[in-house]
Amino acid sequence: MVSKVVFGRGSFNQLEEILLLKRLNVNAPFIFLVDEVFQGNDKITSRIPLAYEDEVIFISAKEEPKTCQVDALVEYIILKFKDRPSGIIGIGGGTLLDLSKAVSIMLTNEGEAQDYQGWDLVKNPAIYHVGIPTISGTGAEVSRTAVLTGPEKKLGINSDYTPFDQVVLDPELIDNVPTPQWFFTGMDCYIHCIESLNGTYLNAFSQSYGEKALELCREVFLGDHLNTQAAQDKLMMASWHGGMSIAYSQVGIAHAMSYGLSYLLGTKHGIGNCIVFDRLEEFYPEGVKEFKAMKSKFNIDLPQGLCKDLSDKEFNIMIDVALSMVPLWENALGKNWNKTITREKLRSIYEIM
Ligand code: NAD
Ligand code: ZN
Repeated sequence: MVSKVVFGRGSFNQLEEILLLKRLNVNAPFIFLVDEVFQGNDKITSRIPLAYEDEVIFISAKEEPKTCQVDALVEYIILKFKDRPSGIIGIGGGTLLDLSKAVSIMLTNEGEAQDYQGWDLVKNPAIYHVGIPTISGTGAEVSRTAVLTGPEKKLGINSDYTPFDQVVLDPELIDNVPTPQWFFTGMDCYIHCIESLNGTYLNAFSQSYGEKALELCREVFLGDHLNTQAAQDKLMMASWHGGMSIAYSQVGIAHAMSYGLSYLLGTKHGIGNCIVFDRLEEFYPEGVKEFKAMKSKFNIDLPQGLCKDLSDKEFNIMIDVALSMVPLWENALGKNWNKTITREKLRSIYEIM
């Protein structure tokens, strides 16, 4: 679990105080990995507390993080600075948070990031790392994984060293998220709840977090105060609780199939989950009905015909990726999941997206 967290509007201002205690020496910088969307935005960048050799690196979140991107960042940091950094601070959405977790791990572990995609492969503790979300829903701020696309697979670095040492939850930071992106990333949280609460892996720990997150999602996406301060506060906490819920259970069918879309077509996590979930009435009837109500409340039109020109080979790549997510299927449908989920079944669902 994350060992320390602060929450509150304006809590970003506490960063200086938090980091002060963690600086190892003047040659050991803090490296801030910041979403490029904030470049030139003084409201955020002027409040990043820089001293000595500290450096801000702006990174685009247009594409999801890749293992080679992590390796390049680590190489840059090692070559540039005399000492290992005092800490890595990720400021952004799931993309920047996962990159920051992975970089902090790879600064103390040999080899390449792709060697650690999987479960509990990391040997040495990561360097101190802080997560500051600027968009809410993925739960990446609280989770035990850093999801990366590698040469062979899209899979997380799941380990006890992955979670942040400190998280700063400042709902003011999610103020300017454009509505469609607010919806897609927010729906990641809603889908985490539905998949966790309807899964066979459910237990009292996951259920307690999942139910609270679902209640908050309903207030945010079906209530009367769409993108208000109250909604920002609630969505930030929904994301946290949704992440805690899946940490002790698992996600399900929308995530398994969305990984296929992401791997083949580069479809991003939030929107990909929405495109898939929209077609899963058969498996999550009530969740999909409620999702459609939220979609219409936010006037969201999902892309259509994503798979209409795909070849057999391309369908097979997506189906292989989706089927490889065994724990997700098992959580969704139980041990005999492969009796219902055949290649033909998956193809028929992909074909209508
Ligand atoms: P993101 O980080 O990809 O960002 C989405 C878009 O929103 C980007 O264009 C970004 O620049 C923009 N943005 C972010 N904050 C903004 C702000 N305050 N104002 C305006 N624009 C802003 O989005 P995401 O949906 O949070 O993250 C998706 C990633 O998270 C995927 O790579 C996915 O694999 C990963 N993920 C990780 C976990 C985990 O547990 N580690 C869980 C789910 C998803
Ligand atoms: Zn997700």
